[in-house]
Amino acid sequence: MHPKLQKEMKVEDGLFLMAFDFDHTLLDGSSDVMIQAAYDVKPSSEKLKVTSTDRGVVQFQQRKYRYHYPSTLQEGDFYAVLDRIALVPGIPECVVALKHLGGELIVISDANDVYITHVLEYHALSWCFNGIYANFAAFHPEDGRLVISPYMTNKLCKLSSANMCKGKVLMDHLRKRSYEGRTFSFVGIAGDGIADFCPMYHLGPHDLAFPRDGYSICHKIAEHASAGLLLQARVVSWKGALEISDAIRRKMARLGRLPKGEAEDEGSREESASKKVELIDRL
Ligand SMILES: [Mg+2]
Repeated sequence: MHPKLQKEMKVEDGLFLMAFDFDHTLLDGSSDVMIQAAYDVKPSSEKLKVTSTDRGVVQFQQRKYRYHYPSTLQEGDFYAVLDRIALVPGIPECVVALKHLGGELIVISDANDVYITHVLEYHALSWCFNGIYANFAAFHPEDGRLVISPYMTNKLCKLSSANMCKGKVLMDHLRKRSYEGRTFSFVGIAGDGIADFCPMYHLGPHDLAFPRDGYSICHKIAEHASAGLLLQARVVSWKGALEISDAIRRKMARLGRLPKGEAEDEGSREESASKKVELIDRL
């Protein structure tokens, strides 16, 4: 959306924070798996040769490996596959609705930032998101291959993968925003995979966890619960993404934080629902 138009919509930021996973949560598929299947390739890994004199690559010192696709695959080849993958049903309407409700939206994903940035731009949804936390990727300036570096080295969190602890990413974001003077009424997390359990486990009783129904996160929540590792957040499983924005709208209504137009809509929705009940009672 054009920035001028966005300004005219008077979107109010920051009433709640909503974090989305990418593969199978925003995108209805796994980006890397589908790219590898389309071209019948697997990325290879290489050990980084980093010395203290390598200015500009110091940031890689803490990371052991990076991955790269062959140079036969160029930028457009990746985008051609990504553009064919649909978004999860209801995602465009959901994220726009959450933005209009005043949410701050971020992506926390084990995919890479090149894919995520492209997909959000392709579907004209970039303006809805305030940040992307993902593995770092770039097209090599000499041969055009895609080089992917881990987001971080995780040695502490046993719930997370070696290259990303989503719980730490979430807490770091909340801490950073707090230093900047921004606090949130509540936090929501939507995800499908086992790596999404950690950030959900960091949520408090006022927050919302949105595991995608039928996906591995649901089994992981049940498995951890039977071992005594219980989520404090309210768990709302979902099939279509509009169930996420509906649950948040209801929570905002309960908190009395719905934006003016939305509050009127919610009021008339409740009124028509009670009229319907009255009518059924009379029949
Ligand atoms: Mg996922």
